[in-house]
Parts: sequence; C-alpha cells; structure tokens
Amino acid sequence: MAIEKLVRTNIRQLTPYASARSEYQGRADIWLDANENPFETGLNRYPDPLQWAVKEKIAGLKGIAPGNIFLGNGSDEVIDLLIRIFCEPREDHILILPPTYGMYAVSARIADVGVQEGPMKPDFQPDPEAVLRAVDGHSKLLFLCSPNNPTGNNLDAGILQELAGAFPGITVIDEAYIDFSDQKSALSWREQFPRLVVMQTFSKAWGMAGLRLGMAFAAPGIIELLNKVKPPYNINALTQRAALEALQRPEDKEAWVATILAERRRLAAALEQLPWVQRVFSSDANFLLVRVDDPQGVYRFLLDGGIVVRDRSRVLHCAGCLRFTVGAPDENDRLLERLRAFSSLT
Ligand SMILES: *Cc1c(COP(=O)(O)O)cnc(C)c1O
Repeated sequence: MAIEKLVRTNIRQLTPYASARSEYQGRADIWLDANENPFETGLNRYPDPLQWAVKEKIAGLKGIAPGNIFLGNGSDEVIDLLIRIFCEPREDHILILPPTYGMYAVSARIADVGVQEGPMKPDFQPDPEAVLRAVDGHSKLLFLCSPNNPTGNNLDAGILQELAGAFPGITVIDEAYIDFSDQKSALSWREQFPRLVVMQTFSKAWGMAGLRLGMAFAAPGIIELLNKVKPPYNINALTQRAALEALQRPEDKEAWVATILAERRRLAAALEQLPWVQRVFSSDANFLLVRVDDPQGVYRFLLDGGIVVRDRSRVLHCAGCLRFTVGAPDENDRLLERLRAFSSLT
C-alpha cells in the first residue's frame, strides 16, 4: 500500500509552518529575518530546524543517507508524531504486543486513537497469527520493540520480517536497546520494507537520557511527513551541539556497552545463586527481568536500602518479576549485597 493512502487527510492537506530558517538557508552576513536578538549569547539564533550537521554524523556512523533520518525530542516525540500522522482519532488504531513499552499505548490514548493488542506468547516472542488476526482496515501502526522492554529479549528476526512484510500499515521497530544486543539492527531492511520505521535513541547506550534525542530511520517519504508535522525547532541548539560532540566519540559508547554487558553477565550469575530467585530471563538489553518469590517484599527491602528498581509483577506474563537496570560495578555490588541480606531474612 502506498504511504500516502495511510496518512490522515488533514495531514496530507496540511501546509506546514514555514519558519524563517526553513525559508532561507543560504549564506548571509546580516540576519534580520527571524526577530532574533542580535547580541551574541551563544544561543541567540534559532537552531537548524532539520539538524543537518547531526544527521550527517549519524548517517556516516550508520552507513545510510541523511535524508533517511528524522530526529525527535526523544523517541517519545517520534512515537507521538507517527500516531498523529497516520491515525484518525476515534477511527484508527495502533497495534501493540504486550508486555511492551508503555508509551505506545499512552501516546495513542492521548491522541484518542485506539489500541489493539496481539499479546506475546509466554516465551516473550510475538504470535504472528494473533497479531495479524487483530489487523483490519483501521490498523495503521504496528509497534515492535526489539530488544523488548520490560522483558529484555530480542524478538526473533524472522518473525519481525514476517510481520513487517504482512502488516498493511507502518511497522515501527523500536531499537532503544540495540547496542546491547548481538542481533543485527533492522536498519538494513529499509529497502525490503518501504513502510518500515526503525527507532533508536541517545538515551541508553549513548548515555544521554537527559538530552532528549531520538532517531527514526525510514524511507524519505515517511521522513518528509515527520518533518511536516514536527514543531519547527524541535531539537534545540544545546542538544544539537551535545549530540555532535558525543558523535565524535563513539568509542566512549562502545566502552560503556562493554562494561555494562560484562556487568549484566556478572549480575545474572549472582542473582541465579539466590534461593528465592526463580528465574533470571536472558537479556539482550541493559537490564534484567527477574522472577522472584516475593516481588513486593524484595522491592520494599531494596527501597529501604536506598535502591530503587522497577516492579513489573502486574504486567502480562511477568507475574513475580522485578526489572533491574544494570548499574555501575559498585552499584551492582551494593544491589547484590542488599539482596543477599534479604536472603538471610527469609
Ligand atoms: C528507554 C526507551 C526509549 C527511549 O525513549 P527516549 O524518549 O528516546 O528517551 C524508547 N523505547 C523504549 C522501548 C525504551 O525503553
């Protein structure tokens, strides 16, 4: 199906806002077009609305064209924009595979867009038949999260391709944790699946959650729609500068990832020794989902020791489960020490 046909009529017909910086981008000595303050503060000028310098750096790193990249104020902005571009409120819906990241459903509900579910199997892999059975003419977006949050596992690449090939709307693969996985990114599938959007973020492996910078990779037609609908200056000048600096040093990210992966192995092995730990789920991300005898008890005991983790025990297929982010080595030591103290209590 052509992408145009999936777009809401009001968005297809929209004349986007033309900012001063999008109307004229050439060289000039004197800029009197944007009602900026002429006195230098380091931030007195509006930033590049399309962030070309940052995109060129990312493009070089990922081996794709800058025109295949969109940058959002966090991946959360990309999710919100995709829903508003493709889903007619009170008519269309998104499809999610619980248990998964909560923002897809929240963003849809804020936009008054329906949420259909094609639940995962208890092994945390999609059930392609169940997902495709839920599809109808109003299914516009399919959100797949791989590695998945909160379960931590990669979704099977063959199943991802099967779904991306069969889903008639836009398939979104959220790869927030891809740097921690040994599975290859779906980025290289773009040619094969023209309606695929791959999302990544600076919030996890890059160590910049405070920056709010998310990436989307897609065919130019989808990128153009995102650019048409986004706030004109959605990525501020400080964020663009900090991202450029981080992108000069990808080896920092690689070093952090290596440490976190080593710590993930150490933490998993130590957790498995605890008598009240039923299962440490295998993880392709920077966190561990752990099934325990008394999740609330462990949660409160950790909190009393100044350690906060995530209680996921009320989530589908995750009864009894806590989610531990892999911390720095000394933080993981303290976590394990506290958990061993819980053992001696019970
Ligand atoms: C953390 C996370 C993100 C990142 O969102 P940002 O808005 O870029 O910080 C995206 N998707 C999932 C599944 C996540 O867990």
